[in-house]
Amino acid sequence: MGVPILTYALRNDELLHISKVENGASCGCICPGCKQPLIARNKGLVREHHFAHSGDLLCHGAYETALHLLAKQVFAKSRAIYLPNYYWNYDHKSNHSRFPFPPEFKREIIFETVTLEQNITWDENQVRPDAVGRINGKEVHIEFANSHFIENLKHEKLKSLGVSCIEVDLAGLPLDEIAILERLTTVSEWVYWIINPKMDQLFRQHKKRLEEQKKLEQQWHTWEENQKATEIAMKYHAYKNDPLVKLLLTKNDEVYDCPIRKVLLEPLKLELIYNHPILKQIIDGAYWKPKLYGQWPNGKWFYFKNEMIYIYPAGDRELTEAEKKSGDQLFYGLNKIKEVLDNDSIGDCGSCKYSVDHFTYNMKQFEVCKHP
Ligand SMILES: [Zn+2]
Repeated sequence: MGVPILTYALRNDELLHISKVENGASCGCICPGCKQPLIARNKGLVREHHFAHSGDLLCHGAYETALHLLAKQVFAKSRAIYLPNYYWNYDHKSNHSRFPFPPEFKREIIFETVTLEQNITWDENQVRPDAVGRINGKEVHIEFANSHFIENLKHEKLKSLGVSCIEVDLAGLPLDEIAILERLTTVSEWVYWIINPKMDQLFRQHKKRLEEQKKLEQQWHTWEENQKATEIAMKYHAYKNDPLVKLLLTKNDEVYDCPIRKVLLEPLKLELIYNHPILKQIIDGAYWKPKLYGQWPNGKWFYFKNEMIYIYPAGDRELTEAEKKSGDQLFYGLNKIKEVLDNDSIGDCGSCKYSVDHFTYNMKQFEVCKHP
């Protein structure tokens, strides 16, 4: 696409469509960009009607300037705009800063008055917006951008003055009044806030409310945690002073010092196996999940206090006399204990009828046992 066709020109400071003027040089129009006289070509049948520079000179500013003028003209006539979405960091291309318009806010605005290119003095500062729309005693500045967008300096100035300002990006639009009106009255990335003091204030209030709410929630959470900790401490002391129950320390649901196990295993204290250091611990109440593993030639083993302990060593070989003797002793003892425990499936508090409660206090797990 080359330079877009110029269908509007200026005559006595008025922007006129090609259809409104005489044909040829007698149209009396000048270029909105370079201000040179133009020739109206509205009698042709082949090409679209358009204005041409003498000698068909290419003028790059003509189209953009005409579009800018036409946009202002359309806006002044329609006085209509659809308020764009609000982004609290004014980056209308990143959705993360989008802050919804309160539903009670009217988005479709028809201004009571629209003035163009008027110098406005704000606190001794001069600004000259493309257009100013006024409604209910409020003002909104409208800037039309095509090649040059609102500069940072002007932006900062508007911000410090507390002026509401919308920028309308005209990029890609033809010299067409309907297309321009559609851009003004459609929510799109082409129309966005440069400054919106009212929404800025609402957003700050919203942020403040969120922070306060978060603080309250944290306080409530802390209070709840403290409350829970107090309750557990009271529970612990109540159970501790209750002669009818026993508080048992557990780890991963394995209870140490199970009173039922102790009673059941008590008779084994009279047997020789009680002399074995590990068997003695189990008979005295240390937790052991009564399971034996492995078979020749992988050896035989069991787990006790998170350790793997060999009864018979692994290996495709004859065991020594000592290995065989100590292995036999351990194997016999473990089976004896297993027999007692298996019969009553004791030691699992989760399914034990004597277990009445369990809780964690001071990082320790406790089981409450009501064994007589
Ligand atoms: Zn020109």
